[in-house]
Amino acid sequence: MKKLEQLYEGKAKKVFKTDNADHYLIEYKDDATAFNGEKRGSIEDKGVVNNLMSAKMFQLLENEGVESHLVELLNDREMLVKAVEIIQVEVIVRNVATGSMVRRLGIEDGITLEPTVLEYCLKSDAFGDPIINDYHIAAMKLATEDEMKQIRDMAFKINEFMKETFIKLDLKLIDFKLEFGRFKGKIILADEISPDTCRFWEVGTNRKMDKDRFRQDLGNVKATYQEVLKKVQTL
Ligand code: UDP
Repeated sequence: MKKLEQLYEGKAKKVFKTDNADHYLIEYKDDATAFNGEKRGSIEDKGVVNNLMSAKMFQLLENEGVESHLVELLNDREMLVKAVEIIQVEVIVRNVATGSMVRRLGIEDGITLEPTVLEYCLKSDAFGDPIINDYHIAAMKLATEDEMKQIRDMAFKINEFMKETFIKLDLKLIDFKLEFGRFKGKIILADEISPDTCRFWEVGTNRKMDKDRFRQDLGNVKATYQEVLKKVQTL
């Protein structure tokens, strides 16, 4: 496999072409942003944690029948993935109210959501990832109704598996963001699953074990990312 020219650079990852048209190479960076790019910084070795943790989560999900873009973990910072066309919708699953949901709706922070809440946001830095619904998605031709049904079913299945998995590690899965892509006519899970894209609260103490430590300047950011990875590596 040859790493060829860079296709795209996002806030946390770079995507490269490879000599196989079906595969891209993703390189995870240490750069961290929050609040739609307003807060910028870096978390030492975050790229390593997010790459290794995402690969592990994709492997576990594959065993549960959820296909992802992971082809192969290459090294600490790089993975080989299927060359998907990313659907421009961020899918957010919320088990407990916090973050933007609390700010937007005035709902009490930390309240369990029954049923679990699914939200969609348009993937657009220029517009600050605004919330959209199934009608916007259809009218903007972001995805078909059938694709959205598959995405919804996968998101709930992933949530059930991840809730059960993380509770065994003494981590409560509060909320997380998923992205999906099209690959050879199928919808598959893409992007990453990491402390950047999920919120975890430690069972018993409610200590925040995710990017909120960076967003809210809570300290011990690097150590907490490492701690989450260590737990995931026991799975
Ligand atoms: N999230 C993400 N990328 C985004 C927006 C949200 O990974 O661009 C994740 C975030 O880490 C959290 C969940 O999605 O686990 C819900 O985020 P929320 O809308 O509360 O984000 P906030 O605006 O509070 O950062």
